[in-house]
Amino acid sequence: MTGERATPFYCPYCGDEDLRPQEEPAGAWSCSACRRVFAVTFVGLNLPQEVSR
Ligand SMILES: [Zn+2]
Repeated sequence: MTGERATPFYCPYCGDEDLRPQEEPAGAWSCSACRRVFAVTFVGLNLPQEVSR
């Protein structure tokens, strides 16, 4: 995968939408409502397993 920055739309802690990207650490966002800084990291895809019939 690319190192593309994932964009959160809501703060996972307070639910506010006013998020600002942080220079450091990479991929970190700052919530201007609750002042929390968090990072969004792409982990992988949860694909359904093939079920043998
Ligand atoms: Zn927040």
